Amino acid sequence: MTDVAPRPGSATHEVTNQPVPFEDVNLFDADLPLREALEREQAGWAVDRVRECGAVAGSAEAREHGRRAERNAPRLLTHDRYGHRIDTVELDPSWHWLLRGAVEREIHSLPWRDDRPGAHVARAALMALWSQVNAGVSCPVSMTYSAIPALRVDPALAAEWEPRLTLPDYERGALCGMAMTEKQGGSDVRANTTLAHPSGDGTYEIVGHKWFCSHPMCEIFLVLAQAPAGLSCFVVERGPGFEIQRLKDKLGTRSLASSEVEFRGVAGRLLGEEGRGVATIIEMVTHTRLDCVIGSASGMRAGVSQAAWHARHRSAFGRPLIEQPAMVNVLADLAVESEAATATALRLARMYDEGDRGLRRFATAVLKYWICKRATAHAAEALECLGGNGYVEEGPMAVLLRDAPLNGIWEGSGNVMALDVLRAMGREPEGLQAFLAECEAARGADARLDAHLDALPPSLAALGEDSHGAQWSARRVVEDLALAFQAALLVRVGEPAVADAFCAGRLGEARGRVYGTLPGGVDARQIVERVLNA
Ligand SMILES: Cc1cc2nc3c(=O)[nH]c(=O)nc-3n(C[C@H](O)[C@H](O)[C@H](O)COP(=O)(O)OP(=O)(O)OC[C@H]3O[C@@H](n4cnc5c(N)ncnc54)[C@H](O)[C@@H]3O)c2cc1C
Repeated sequence: MTDVAPRPGSATHEVTNQPVPFEDVNLFDADLPLREALEREQAGWAVDRVRECGAVAGSAEAREHGRRAERNAPRLLTHDRYGHRIDTVELDPSWHWLLRGAVEREIHSLPWRDDRPGAHVARAALMALWSQVNAGVSCPVSMTYSAIPALRVDPALAAEWEPRLTLPDYERGALCGMAMTEKQGGSDVRANTTLAHPSGDGTYEIVGHKWFCSHPMCEIFLVLAQAPAGLSCFVVERGPGFEIQRLKDKLGTRSLASSEVEFRGVAGRLLGEEGRGVATIIEMVTHTRLDCVIGSASGMRAGVSQAAWHARHRSAFGRPLIEQPAMVNVLADLAVESEAATATALRLARMYDEGDRGLRRFATAVLKYWICKRATAHAAEALECLGGNGYVEEGPMAVLLRDAPLNGIWEGSGNVMALDVLRAMGREPEGLQAFLAECEAARGADARLDAHLDALPPSLAALGEDSHGAQWSARRVVEDLALAFQAALLVRVGEPAVADAFCAGRLGEARGRVYGTLPGGVDARQIVERVLNA
C-alpha cells in the first residue's frame, strides 16, 4: 500500500520537466535564416557587429531589462511641485539601457552614416535582433531612422538636425517622433484639424491636438497641420507650447510612452512645400512601414525560437514534445512562416539600398499588409506551444502576443494598406511590374508556384475599373501577391525544404487555415532543426 499522508515539513515535489530559460544565447548565431539573409542581401560585411548585437540581445541581462521596462510603465509628470508645467515622462532605467543600446549600435542611423551597399540590410538585421529584447523601444529608433529621408528635402533643416539625429551617442544625440493621428482620424490624415498660423518670421504657430504621439520625450517631431495652402509638414521641437495631456493605457508595448498631446502655439518650421504635407511625410511613413515588416519578422522569430526551445526541453506522454508528430507540424509551420518573413524583410530592406523606388514602394505596401497580419496568429500559436507556461506574465510569450498586433495598426492598418496597394497599381504601375518580374524570376522551379503565378494576372485584371469591386477584393489580391513574392524568394534562394513546405502549405487549394496543417511529405524535421542553431 502507498503511503499518501503528507509528512510535516517534507517537500511536496521536485521541479522536473521544466525547460531552462532561453537566455545567454547569441540570437544571431542561433538564427540561421537571418545569417543567410544577411550574406545574401549584401551585408556580409556587417556580420561582426550583428553578431555582437545578437550576443547582447540574447543575454540574461538584456532580457531582464526588457522585462523590467515592461513592468515599470512610463509615468507622466505634467507639473513640478510648484505648479509649473514640465511635460516630462519618467522612464525606467531599463528603458534607457535599451534605447541607449539601440542608439550606440546605430540602429537608428546606420544607413545615413555608412553608404556601403547593404547598409539598410545590416540595420534591418540589428533591428530584428534588438526588437526581440523589447518591441517598445523600437518605436523611437524606427521613427528617428525614418525621419532622415523626409528631413533631407530641406537642406537647412537637415544640416541642423541630421548630425544629432544620427549620432550614436545617447546623451548628445537626439530622437525624432511623428504626430499625425488626431481624434477624428488616423488613416485619413487629410481630416486633420490642427492649424499652422504663419508667425511672420518664417516659422508657424501650431495650435491643435494629436491623439497618438509616441515617445513624447523625442527632441523633435514631424507634425502635420493645416497651413493657409493646405495640409503641411512641420518640424516641431519639444518645448513651450508642447503639452502632454496623458499617456495611453495600451494592450502592448507598455514600456513605450504613447501620449496625447496639445499644441498651444508651439513653433513649427515648414518642411517641404506648404500644402504638400502628405507627400513630404510619406518618406518617413514608408521607412517606418519597412520597420513594421522587420518588427513582425522579429516577433515571429522570437516566438518560434521560444516554442522550439520549450518543445526540446519538455516531455509529455513519455517523449520530448519536439519528437511528437503533431508538435513537429506546428513547429515546422511556424518556422516556415518565420523564415519567409525574415528572408522577405531583408530582401525588402535591400530595396532601400538599391533605390528602385517604384518596386520599393509597391513591395512595402504588399508586404507590410501581409507580414504584419501573419504575426498575431503566429504569436498565439507559438504561445500555445508552451502550454500554460505560455500564458503567464513571468514568461516571454504574453508580452509577445500583446505586442504582435501593433505593427498591423501603426502606419496603415490592414485595409488601408490593401487599398494603398490598389492606389500604387493605378499611379505607379511600374512598381507592380517590377514586383511581378521578381516573382516570375522563380518560374519553372516549382509547379505549385507556377500555377499561383498563372492565376495572378486574371485576378489583377478582374479588379477592373469598378472601385467597389476592387476594394471588396483588395485583401485577397494583396494576399496572393505577397504569397507569390515569398514563395518565389524561398524557391530561388531559400533552404529547399522550407521552400517546398511553403509552397505545399500556402499555395493552391490544399492550404491549411491554422498553423500546424502542413501536408505530409514535407521535410519537417529538417525545418525544425534549422530553428535553433544553439
Ligand atoms: C501603440 C500606438 C502608437 C502610435 N503612435 C503614433 C505616433 O507616434 N504618431 C502618430 O501619428 N500616430 C500614432 N499611432 C496611431 C496610428 O498610426 C493610428 O491608430 C492608425 O494610423 C489608424 O488610425 P485610427 O486609429 O484613426 O483608425 P481609423 O483610421 O479610424 O481606422 C479604423 C479602421 O478602419 C479601417 N479603414 C480606414 N479607412 C478605410 C477605408 N477607406 N476602407 C476600409 N477600411 C478603412 C482601418 O484599416 C482600421 O481598421 C499609434 C497607434 C498605436 C496603437
